[in-house]
Amino acid sequence: MGAASVAVDSETMGLMLGRDPLCVVQLSAGDGDAHVVRLNRPAYDAPNLKRLLGDPATLKIFHFGRFDIAMFLLHLQVMTAPVYCTKIASRLVRTYTDRHGLKDLIKDVLSVDISKTQQSSDWGAARLTPEQVAYAASDVLYLHALKAKLDAMLEREGRLGLAQACFQFLPHRAALDVAGWPEVDIFAHS
Ligand code: MN
Repeated sequence: MGAASVAVDSETMGLMLGRDPLCVVQLSAGDGDAHVVRLNRPAYDAPNLKRLLGDPATLKIFHFGRFDIAMFLLHLQVMTAPVYCTKIASRLVRTYTDRHGLKDLIKDVLSVDISKTQQSSDWGAARLTPEQVAYAASDVLYLHALKAKLDAMLEREGRLGLAQACFQFLPHRAALDVAGWPEVDIFAHS
């Protein structure tokens, strides 16, 4: 039994940081249950959630965590850490493909088909539809199983250390997004 970990995802009004509010956060402990939380924006008064996201003893597992972590930093004023990102892990080991989206990853690694039909829907609505709740839940229900498979592949390919370094930097990459360096590679020559 490893340290505590929780799968985390969020839904927003769109993909533009600073324009589109954070609406919903989904959590799963990896036990088959998902918790879909509608946030009380614009107050974002969610002390338990903020404590969990910043808890150094709880690993937060994301898929493309960069966006969620930036959203949490901007709206909840919390630096999410420590983190794991299944998209980064996938990029580091599934070098035989460029399909690293969650749906493709789950299909390839876990042989499960998830629906993405509710991805573009009104997450700011006062009441979420059963279809939205089911979709939101599916985005966190497979992250623990994905992590287990991807960790085995990372170990096999000798890239666990590289992955760990990327995960440690990820919250800072998100902070750069929030601070005004969104699409700039800070390591690039020009
Ligand atoms: Mn999602």
